[in-house]
Amino acid sequence: MNKPVDLRSDTVTLPSPSMRRAMYEAELGDDGYGEDRTVTRLHEMVAERVGKEAALMTPSGCMANLIALLTFCDRGNEVILGRQTDMYLWEVGAMSAVGGIFPNPLENELDGTIDLAALEASLRPEDVHFPRTRLICLENSHNLSGGTPLTPGYIGQVKAVADRHHLPLYLDGARLFNAAVALNVDPLEITRHVDALMFCFSKGLSCPVGSIICGSRSYIEEAHRHRKMLGGQMRQAGVIAAAAIVAMTEMVERLADDHKHARLLASGLLELDGLEVRPEKPQTNIVFFRPARAGISTEALASRLEVAGVRTLPMGSWLRAVTHFGIEADDIHRALQIIAVEWKAVSR
Ligand SMILES: *Cc1c(COP(=O)(O)O)cnc(C)c1O
Repeated sequence: MNKPVDLRSDTVTLPSPSMRRAMYEAELGDDGYGEDRTVTRLHEMVAERVGKEAALMTPSGCMANLIALLTFCDRGNEVILGRQTDMYLWEVGAMSAVGGIFPNPLENELDGTIDLAALEASLRPEDVHFPRTRLICLENSHNLSGGTPLTPGYIGQVKAVADRHHLPLYLDGARLFNAAVALNVDPLEITRHVDALMFCFSKGLSCPVGSIICGSRSYIEEAHRHRKMLGGQMRQAGVIAAAAIVAMTEMVERLADDHKHARLLASGLLELDGLEVRPEKPQTNIVFFRPARAGISTEALASRLEVAGVRTLPMGSWLRAVTHFGIEADDIHRALQIIAVEWKAVSR
């Protein structure tokens, strides 16, 4: 019996053998006292890679986003962000619940961008009736648009709007390196337009745990206070940082394979009659598909696939499939064979 092809998310990735070795051998100390040399090395390495003065590792991407927002905003401040983003949809409303921050969600276009005119129109003037707009946020790559990378050109245009209104720009770059690899640009081309950002080690970079916030030295000092406040201070965190260091050196370039596999998957799915596939040519590692006509249940298809050995993630009327470390071209071919059989059975 073959192992199931698990395409639910790039969070199911397991650490590579060299990560496990690095974790085992990591030089450790109490990071609460700033004494974990492995953590410090990761902070320096990442700050340089993304062109910011400093960085701060966090246990999760959700916490990184929350810390970042708490560091930019006071209670009652407003944040502009995409409606179809992780921060708006899937982070438990933490910015409001914990930070008293008021989200102003704008529609994301099919390519994950926010329309610049809509953005401009949403920025409020100083008026006693209004919350103060304090921050603009983008997500790159944009998950719900099928992992579409936002280009440096577009991000620069958003930055120009932000600058005109004296607002900082924040990037939820959970999959920043997928975006950079797909666009074939240095990550610096993306990050130079934003004041602060986070990215995840625990997605396509295959680490077991961890994300990181990057920004100016004074910003990261403030973020450090908020991490402590949220209970995100860790002790011998070098065990986690060691895997992240390996990720930065060994796992970035190979994301191109995941992207190739996603294109392979999408083109195979497109050959099946009656399936709608989005995007038809994925740029990164995410593909969505669903029955093109009403009356066939996405859930039913998902559970049949699961039993037959292909795991996908139902999201609304769509099934999401994500390629990642551990998924090879052969797995994609096997998944496509299974999907073809099961799709034929449910769509008859
Ligand atoms: C996964 C993800 C997060 C949250 O990261 P966790 O580590 O799961 O908390 C935030 N933003 C985006 C775009 C993500 O994909």
